[in-house]
Amino acid sequence: MPTLPATAYRPAIPLPDLRPFIGGAPVDAASGRTIPVRNPATGEVMCEVQEADATDVDRAVAAAREALSGEWSRVEPSVRARLLRRLGDLIDQHREELARLESADNGKAYRESLKGDLPETAEIFHYYAGWTTKLRGETVPVDGPYVNFTLREPVGVCGQIIPWNFPILMAAWKIAPALACGNTVVLKPSELTPLTALRLAELAREAGFPAGVVNVVVGYGPVAGEALARHPDVDKLAFTGSTRTARALLQASAESNLKKLSLELGGKSPHLVFEDADLKAAANAAFWGVFMNQGEVCAAGSRLLVQATVHDELVQRLVDRAARMRIGDPFAPGVEMGPLVSEHQLRTVMGYVDLGRTEGAKLVAGGERDTAPERAGGYFVRPTVFDEVQPGMKIAQEEIFGPVLAVMTFENEAEAVRLANSTIYGLVSGVWTRDGGRALRVARALKAGTVWVNDYNAFDAASPFGGYGQSGWGREMGAQALELYTQVKSVWIRHDR
Ligand code: NAD
Repeated sequence: MPTLPATAYRPAIPLPDLRPFIGGAPVDAASGRTIPVRNPATGEVMCEVQEADATDVDRAVAAAREALSGEWSRVEPSVRARLLRRLGDLIDQHREELARLESADNGKAYRESLKGDLPETAEIFHYYAGWTTKLRGETVPVDGPYVNFTLREPVGVCGQIIPWNFPILMAAWKIAPALACGNTVVLKPSELTPLTALRLAELAREAGFPAGVVNVVVGYGPVAGEALARHPDVDKLAFTGSTRTARALLQASAESNLKKLSLELGGKSPHLVFEDADLKAAANAAFWGVFMNQGEVCAAGSRLLVQATVHDELVQRLVDRAARMRIGDPFAPGVEMGPLVSEHQLRTVMGYVDLGRTEGAKLVAGGERDTAPERAGGYFVRPTVFDEVQPGMKIAQEEIFGPVLAVMTFENEAEAVRLANSTIYGLVSGVWTRDGGRALRVARALKAGTVWVNDYNAFDAASPFGGYGQSGWGREMGAQALELYTQVKSVWIRHDR
């Protein structure tokens, strides 16, 4: 079995088959081309995956269509539950292997992959296993001599396009509810981080899902992604990624078959700290709220709004903690923050750091690449804090998707809410206060799909996640995701003839 060779900090990692996974098995890609997969900690190519193009997408969609009306359609709900549970169990059993693959591919600290991403991934499958037997319709009290009832049916073949920041977790958010509802899927992972999705397809086969139910095609966005988005036989497209790509997908849907879309997009999420907050806890949450996963998090609390009276103390705490951040190889002991995912992302983030300086914000921490000799070649950036940011600045409005925090001050609650709601996004938000009334008022006033009070980054498979404004359409996780993956049929039976 091919492996990623051992490094100074980790053992060798077995690799999945690096071909498109179509119809229950890996197959040779039609293109004959490959995509290099780099180690973000060194910039070196670790392996090459076969590049899927429109031909492979076609084959994958055909396999998914065949499975939909074939064996999969006869799998009883309780058996679907068992399959999902088994896949969740297999993910748990392979937790270390998958976490290693994820960190090698994406660069995130191994500890985060092992203790965060992987348990959550398994949990998503276990959670949705419980829903297969509860997809109820209703009886409806209509006028006339009828019995009217509704059925919840699968949408059909689901195209699913995901980004590189939480590769296996995003795959789970997409695949688990789709399968729970009886759909089939064609998943296109990011070309930057394809490894865990390919392994997941193998585990799905091992769990016993029929051939064609889970297909994985690794390809470039404008090639394989576009082909999926334009495919006339894809019924639904679920996407997580940038707002820019979402627009292209909308257009592709409009110009093909009006496939249904759900979109999880970017954010510029506000973290509000009032003067009565527990400042130590707030500073810790604000720090990890933006620097977890190198800041490559759609829900990153990238705008810190702090009441003027506690500004100095809070910022000092952040600056002190940033200086102590342990950056390095994701597998080195004690490392808290790994490299960014790619050179492209590194350039984007450093471009915003330069912009912040020219816009006149005050750089109080970081602002540079980490170029220690043992990290040369990797895409490391120090945690960066800009103070005295003005709401109109680009670093206060645009998503950076890296370890950069913009700090702004406010005088009172009304100003805090106004500032918080002053971007095109509305994904998540955090509020720190000991005043219960204020917590409730502000939680209601914030335009965001999630509000955390006296915490940040709390997630649960049972709780919905998604955005207001240009942060997206629809909600993933929880019961809400079932709406994305089912359609309702109304059945009328006349009983007087
Ligand atoms: P991206 O939009 O460039 O890529 C996301 C996916 O879309 C990749 O698989 C890519 O190959 C594909 N893609 C790119 N162009 C395409 C096209 N024209 N047609 C079809 N598919 C295409 O985004 P990214 O740089 O990979 O990820 C970062 C972005 O994702 C950030 O803006 C972030 O906020 C967002 N994100 C959102 C969430 C969420 O849950 N809301 C989660 C993670 C990331």
